[in-house]
Amino acid sequence: MAQSFDPATREALLARVRFYRDLGLTEFYRRPVDPAVMTQFESQLISSQTPEQSSTQSLGAPGLDSETWDATSQPTPQEESTIPPRKPITLPPDIGSAVPAAERAKFLQLIREDIGDCTRCALHKGRNKIVFGDGSPTARLMFVGEGPGADEDAQGIPFVGKAGQLLNNMIAAMGLKREEVYIANVVKCRPPGNRTPEPDEGNTCSPFLFRQIDVIRPQVIVGLGATAATYLLGQRQPLAGLRGRVHAFRGSQLIITYHPAYLLRDPRQKKEAWADLQIAMRELGLKAPSKG
Ligand code: URA
Repeated sequence: MAQSFDPATREALLARVRFYRDLGLTEFYRRPVDPAVMTQFESQLISSQTPEQSSTQSLGAPGLDSETWDATSQPTPQEESTIPPRKPITLPPDIGSAVPAAERAKFLQLIREDIGDCTRCALHKGRNKIVFGDGSPTARLMFVGEGPGADEDAQGIPFVGKAGQLLNNMIAAMGLKREEVYIANVVKCRPPGNRTPEPDEGNTCSPFLFRQIDVIRPQVIVGLGATAATYLLGQRQPLAGLRGRVHAFRGSQLIITYHPAYLLRDPRQKKEAWADLQIAMRELGLKAPSKG
């Protein structure tokens, strides 16, 4: 039987859908509902649109170790990317869709509520906690990793294990506190055995990351490792060709560097990673704190 919405619920739903549409997000997951309800709802949505809004939009396809940050060493190999290419998602959201700073925490919470007790991909089967994101909703700098590991899965907070300790040191070396930045991952549930997320897992989950980015609108995003680079840039390329420069991503400046877990395995690359972080600092107008 068709279900009708009370006026307050209908207005709240319309406001939420309008907000997503303003962000350029038009692909939604939804639980099965009676088609009659959806027809009624969609016709209400269309009749509430301005002519400009009713044009179709599309999301697109879409020295540091854990103890010290000692960035002295030799250049060598790159991380392997195993993710197939996707359509790049580089267009910035409309200026008018910026979420006021005071509202960002609330909008992040709405995204978290949308994720809910997610079963959209197979990763839900092995997870303990969804790892949504951590840090300041008004951060000027955001870090994007690959996906939670065992510690993150247990605590529900990104980058709290060994790689997280190194990331904390990297952030401190930039003269920032962890609470001042925002940290999230391409996938929000732990891949079994910390394997690289499968393309369907990354493609299913990354739109939530893009929505977080669109709400926070950080000036600079640092993509940590090949998985972050691939899903943010929408194309798979060797990390070496992506590092050392600034990319445009949805209105932010995107810098790609090595994943902290990789730096723990090959500390010789810390010097290269530090050079990437200095590009981020330059863009943010930050000076490294003096040692002592
Ligand atoms: N590695 C990641 O990519 N993300 C985390 O949150 C932890 C480890």
